[in-house]
Amino acid sequence: MAWKTLDDMDLSGKRVLTRVDINVPVEDGRVTDATRITRIVPTVQDILAKGGTPILLAHFGRPKGKYVPEMSLRVTLPALEEALGRPVTFIEKPSRDQIDALPMETVVLIENTRFTEMEEKNDPMMANFLASLGDVYCNDAFSAAHRAHASTEGVAHLLPSCVGRLMAEELSALDAALGNPVRPVVAVVGGAKVSTKLDLLGNLVGKVDHLVIGGGMANTFLAAQGVDVGKSLCEHDLADTAREILSKAEAAGCEIILPRDIVVAREFKADADSETLSPDACPADAMILDAGPATVAYIEEVLKAAKTLIWNGPLGAFEIEPFDAATNAAARAAAALTKAGSLTSVAGGGDTVAALNQAGVAGDFTYISTAGGAFLEWMEGKTLPGVAALG
Ligand code: ADP
Ligand code: MG
Repeated sequence: MAWKTLDDMDLSGKRVLTRVDINVPVEDGRVTDATRITRIVPTVQDILAKGGTPILLAHFGRPKGKYVPEMSLRVTLPALEEALGRPVTFIEKPSRDQIDALPMETVVLIENTRFTEMEEKNDPMMANFLASLGDVYCNDAFSAAHRAHASTEGVAHLLPSCVGRLMAEELSALDAALGNPVRPVVAVVGGAKVSTKLDLLGNLVGKVDHLVIGGGMANTFLAAQGVDVGKSLCEHDLADTAREILSKAEAAGCEIILPRDIVVAREFKADADSETLSPDACPADAMILDAGPATVAYIEEVLKAAKTLIWNGPLGAFEIEPFDAATNAAARAAAALTKAGSLTSVAGGGDTVAALNQAGVAGDFTYISTAGGAFLEWMEGKTLPGVAALG
């Protein structure tokens, strides 16, 4: 891979500007979930171990370029200090003199980068100012890498740059899943709408061997093939697009796997009366809310023969029982194959991570990306500016 890691840099006596994602949930002035903070610990410890001074840069919330007291990063200090097991120096308005005056081995956290509109505008003035605070730039915020901001992109051009531990791990997991995967590769794409995942589907059909289409978006594909989907969530105006994706897949030799049986109900509520039917038998007054057991059995068969899985989007309306059944069963199959060593499995997406947690298997996947938008843009085959700037 083209980018340098912390191991490639001489950090001794250097101020290491480190872009992290500690955009954690806060309630009543306290961090309620410190997962993101815990995940940056290896990078910070590594910089310290190599004799560098980590100067953490991060955004917090959406202050839109203005100072918003409730969005001060100060609130993260106790959780950060606890995770690192050492004090952290918080600096509201940094200057190089101030940073030079700090003893070595200090960990510094700088106030919310988004308190000035120069950040999101990727203003060269801000990038230059940030660069003046450090000797080396380290990006450990993959989840912000789809944005070309001053602290994620601009500054990377101005200092010797590298990726942090967390981002290196994420990039190599993603590379193993889609960049340079062991074949056969299966992609599972589900979720609500085709319209939000057009670029993603378009990119995947050219790269994977099997593409499972599930969730609400499968209805759009079924309808495009002339099937009556009743009251199901369906984007009828995308029928042509769906057919284009199907023919692109055929040309690329990618097998498209649509539901082979469907679970329908008249109401979208827990334990609503439901039945399993053939895909062309959805009653006019019913909705397709999940894939059925025959579909799951076929997905399992394909996964068994596969070496790599990339997953975004649940196969059904998983928030409500029993419409979580197909997602849970396919997730458990993927987890078991991963544990047995025959499958590399990578998943991402807000609802996908929630669904895999609900199925109790998130820990058994090879890698779960919590990067949200950056993960999706990467699945779409886009170049992420924060990654490209490190090359
Ligand atoms: P992610 O956040 O992982 O990218 P999406 O946001 O695209 O996933 O999709 C998740 C949503 O799709 C869930 O709220 C789920 O209920 C919905 N969904 C899945 N299948 C269906 C269906 N058949 N009908 C209606 N909604 C569905
Ligand atoms: Mg979602």
